[in-house]
Amino acid sequence: MIKEKDGIHISGEEKFVADSRKALGDVNIASHAHMDHAFQGDGKIVASDLTRRLLESRLERELELNEHPDVKLIDSGHILGSTAALIKTDDKRILYTGDVSTRNRAYIDGFDPVDADILITESTYGIPAYKFPEQEQIEENIKAWIERTESPFLFGYSLGKAQKIQWLAQKFTDKPLVAHGAVMKMNKVVEKHTDLNFNARPYGENKGLLENGEGIFIGPTRFAKSDALNKLVNASNGVKAGFSGWGMADQYKYRGGYDKVFPFSDHCGFNDLVEMVRKVDPEKVYTHHGFDSEFASYLKREEGINARALKENQASLTDF
Ligand SMILES: [Zn+2]
Repeated sequence: MIKEKDGIHISGEEKFVADSRKALGDVNIASHAHMDHAFQGDGKIVASDLTRRLLESRLERELELNEHPDVKLIDSGHILGSTAALIKTDDKRILYTGDVSTRNRAYIDGFDPVDADILITESTYGIPAYKFPEQEQIEENIKAWIERTESPFLFGYSLGKAQKIQWLAQKFTDKPLVAHGAVMKMNKVVEKHTDLNFNARPYGENKGLLENGEGIFIGPTRFAKSDALNKLVNASNGVKAGFSGWGMADQYKYRGGYDKVFPFSDHCGFNDLVEMVRKVDPEKVYTHHGFDSEFASYLKREEGINARALKENQASLTDF
């Protein structure tokens, strides 16, 4: 039985629960350290070591890792530490992607799909409007824009997106990076456990650099419309850019108050999702998040695959 209810529940002889905020399964899997999925219960988790470290820093407590012979973790290319889980039951292999991107981006390698009988995938961008441009093109455009913009203010999710933006900005200019506290906090954990280094300066003490247009600002999206920030943007003739897959739709730019938007995403775009499903070549697909029903319908109609959306609290009896 497969069910979505504060995470994904896969019940056979043993109960596997992925990305639940509570500990509810015999085996609890944490795919990555974004707070919308974050494990906050008791007991051990099956996760990558980096996901554990990031979660510990965000939750401000220690977590214990667990291993399970029937669960194989595979890098899912979403953020540092993120993993998909390949779960072996008696006769089926179930692949749970967690949040996933198949694209190589900045410093991260995309997910390499593996064969499975049942695929449970996120479907955030599961409609054709979210066919992203080639990644190389997106990063070229970012480079050209950063090079010609005097005072750039960049916005993205503080864990994952913000580090990739900083990595690109560092590659494209010599200007010092000035990061908001939420981003600095995540930088610290990433720098401690990986080879990455962003050399960002804290925003609080370096507003002067921004005022004079000498630095590049990086902050979380929720900060883009704050008065304090807009003062600096005005003083430096700054330009604000948002980085998100939602940037494929015009509303994103206006709602976020951005001058410029790049569809740089940590998730699969529509085409990437279709391509991933073909490679996994499953007999059944369950979709969740975003355009779940739309994507399941598309797979049935266009790809002839048995697919359906997992709806909250609705159990799906599957053939295993
Ligand atoms: Zn995520």
